[in-house]
Amino acid sequence: MTLNITAVQPEHWKYVSEGGASIVFSYQGPPHPHFDGTVLRLRKIPYNNAPTSATPEVAEEPDDPTIQFQQQIIQRLIPVAHLPRLESVEVQREWLEELQRLADVERPAERRAKDRIDVCRRKAVLATDLVGGNALAVEIKPKWGFLPSTAHLTAATLPIKSMTCRYCMHSYLKAAKGEEVCFDYCPLDLYSGDEIRVRRALNALFDAWVGSSGAINNLRVFAEGTMVKPSLRPSSLGPLAKHFPRSVAEEATLSKLQGDFVAALIPLLLGTPVLRILSTLQRTLDALDIEGLSALWAAAHQSAAVQVAADPASVAVPPLGAGLTEPTIADWQAFLDIFLTKHAQMDHDHPDSANVKYYCMAYILSASFKDCSIILRIPQDGPATVTVIDLDVKPVEKLSTWAKLDAQIVDEYRGIPEPANCVARL
Ligand SMILES: [Zn+2]
Repeated sequence: MTLNITAVQPEHWKYVSEGGASIVFSYQGPPHPHFDGTVLRLRKIPYNNAPTSATPEVAEEPDDPTIQFQQQIIQRLIPVAHLPRLESVEVQREWLEELQRLADVERPAERRAKDRIDVCRRKAVLATDLVGGNALAVEIKPKWGFLPSTAHLTAATLPIKSMTCRYCMHSYLKAAKGEEVCFDYCPLDLYSGDEIRVRRALNALFDAWVGSSGAINNLRVFAEGTMVKPSLRPSSLGPLAKHFPRSVAEEATLSKLQGDFVAALIPLLLGTPVLRILSTLQRTLDALDIEGLSALWAAAHQSAAVQVAADPASVAVPPLGAGLTEPTIADWQAFLDIFLTKHAQMDHDHPDSANVKYYCMAYILSASFKDCSIILRIPQDGPATVTVIDLDVKPVEKLSTWAKLDAQIVDEYRGIPEPANCVARL
């Protein structure tokens, strides 16, 4: 039987944080066998799409696809010890509207202006609360931890892409568009397994976190379930400093606190297999780079033209992924059966255009691992844990967006006087 959220009151759920598509609350009510130690993750909807009271309710709604995707696909790739427990929970419109009203006080104004809880949903996701309780929790969005396979790069892109990682190039484009970015952070440092480089990555993330007052979202810190909102005033970091008594005793300067914070995370990051697993999955699933995938897509359409005796040169190649249907869970299962048994033996330098759909699915799955977050949870008592979250499946239509963005990122980076050398940052 599915749990029902109306068993507990909306005011017992405390706002934790939100991303672009969902908003998270943690259970802070009286002891409850199902809700203790859990967070509720709800889908959001843009204001201009917000339902009116006339919007009909859906009687039967399937479980949120995240749950099935994690349980049947992701768990075959990442050990369950490093994943949150996910469960479906039934929600109800009046209950969600009340929660929405309560949450508005806590939500950042810029988010509140944009979107709200989708109150027409009948089901939501209940997950392990990784940030609450008597603990320090650190959320890192590590991003792309590899350099692309060079087999399918062109003379115009190979020199750039084999030296500068995707994140560092993308930062340059974002900055050119006026976005706040963290130039000193290179994911290859974080993923390196080398203490000096991991330390440098953490310091860069911390500097950007404080320097941007938390606006750069590659790092988030939660103390006792509340997100720490940094500023250059040392008192803003008080909730974090409490976890490092030494810094408090010695009149915490920002740099001392930063040193303690980084020192606490290093052994966790060097000791966990999670980063290695993520970068291996990202790289293995993205075997062709988006350039190789686009070339294979074009070749597949041209060879289809030959079969109907048309001139392949005259074929208009549709945008990458156009016309592919959204994979079902059964499609993903079948994909993984091949990926886990045959992928390592396939010749990715000379991919067969008959496998174009396989490579498209592989790329889509790699994107989930490029875009997820990890949560390092350090309880006051008990062992620390490292958990991967936000492993949603990406829609097929993203493929053409990614192809365009890749070209734009490389074009913007081409010819800059001092390109970052991400390989040799030692
Ligand atoms: Zn880099």
